[in-house]
Amino acid sequence: MIVCKFGGTSVADAACVARVCDLAAARRPEGCLVVVSAMARVTRRLLALGRLAEAGELPAARRQLGELFAQHREVAAEVADAARRAALDDPFAAEEKELGVLLAGIRRAGRLRPVASDRLLAAGELLSSRILAAALASREQPVAWIDPRELVATDERFGEARPDQPRTAAACERHARAHLAARRLVVTGGFVGVTRRGDTTTLGWDGSDTSAALLAAALGAELLEVFKDVDGVYTADPRSVPGARLVPHLSYREAAELTLLGAQVLHYATIPLAARAGTAVRVRNTFRPEAPGTLIRGVAGVPAVRGLAAAGPMSATRLPGRYPCHGLNGGSSWPSQARRLQSLTATKAGAPAGEALTWNGDAGERVALLSLVGASAADVAERAAAALAGRGALHAAGSRCDTHLSVLVPLAEAPAVLADLHQAFFSGPESSAEGC
Ligand code: ASP
Ligand code: MG
Repeated sequence: MIVCKFGGTSVADAACVARVCDLAAARRPEGCLVVVSAMARVTRRLLALGRLAEAGELPAARRQLGELFAQHREVAAEVADAARRAALDDPFAAEEKELGVLLAGIRRAGRLRPVASDRLLAAGELLSSRILAAALASREQPVAWIDPRELVATDERFGEARPDQPRTAAACERHARAHLAARRLVVTGGFVGVTRRGDTTTLGWDGSDTSAALLAAALGAELLEVFKDVDGVYTADPRSVPGARLVPHLSYREAAELTLLGAQVLHYATIPLAARAGTAVRVRNTFRPEAPGTLIRGVAGVPAVRGLAAAGPMSATRLPGRYPCHGLNGGSSWPSQARRLQSLTATKAGAPAGEALTWNGDAGERVALLSLVGASAADVAERAAAALAGRGALHAAGSRCDTHLSVLVPLAEAPAVLADLHQAFFSGPESSAEGC
């Protein structure tokens, strides 16, 4: 069976939802669970509502809540037939009422607590997934909508909850397995989970990728297809490096490092989940589904630089101790990733290159961490140094890892350094981007 995940831009409006229906329907005979994000920008708008209520602006928050629901009802009216649309009236009204009460509570508390924030943000996925299920049913597709809180069990770290895999697996058996066996499409929302006590949690920004990998693992899916608005994983972020190329294959390890070190194509926790379960991952474009995208699986190719990742802004901090040491703060909107980056880049002055990052700049300086992923630091250090020779930008080099090389550069110089490194490693024949 397959798990498909569609991001927010893939369900941005009625035309997009129709496209997703076609892609999902084509996969139904194999057994397919569909995980969907909130419609584009909805999560941010929900957060803004919470902030308004927190600031005491309850009427404005309520008005914007009404607009948000009106927009969802309009999309539902376009993609679903009259009966299916009418069937959404009660659940939408109940959700709108619950959020209204929640906003009033936030206003009274004068604070947007993580537990309230998670309940608020979950609405985006609850609504988008119900709309998608109604649209599929209107096309005579056998479909079961399942509330993500019936499937994804987590701990109580509101805002960035950690999934509980055994409980999630048991819930999938209980609620989803029979539908899949009967070849019904199962539709659920990403990003959202539930604690043992029944409180709604979220998995952190872009957490729908993680939901999808988790559900794929729980159900033993062979393939996780992550549909985005780009063709796949690129050698660098195409928004900042115009010459970036599509990478056709990556090993789990390469993909995990690229995303941990800042490539934004997938949530960084996604690949480790897929790797442990042996789920192949294909990243592809909703708007060009015929393009092959990027296949990520356990097979490793010849070691070579596969791509560049950038994380930041971070700031260098001086650590107390006997020797001059530097650490890093920040680098990610996910606290857990920031902590991993921090420990990965914890520095020790005088450590040999290839073992630790050494930072010679000023404490407090804003920096970016740029990483060449896929080959050992030792193998690429010379070429990287040559590419950067003319720049005073390079304050630090080295890595403790034999599968990437990272450099710390002042934030302002990061785009130019990224372009130089990309030119040095990817201007040759396309084969340098090839994998297994
Ligand atoms: N809707 C959430 C977000 O915008 C989760 C996701 O899209 O993956 O981050
Ligand atoms: Mg998103």
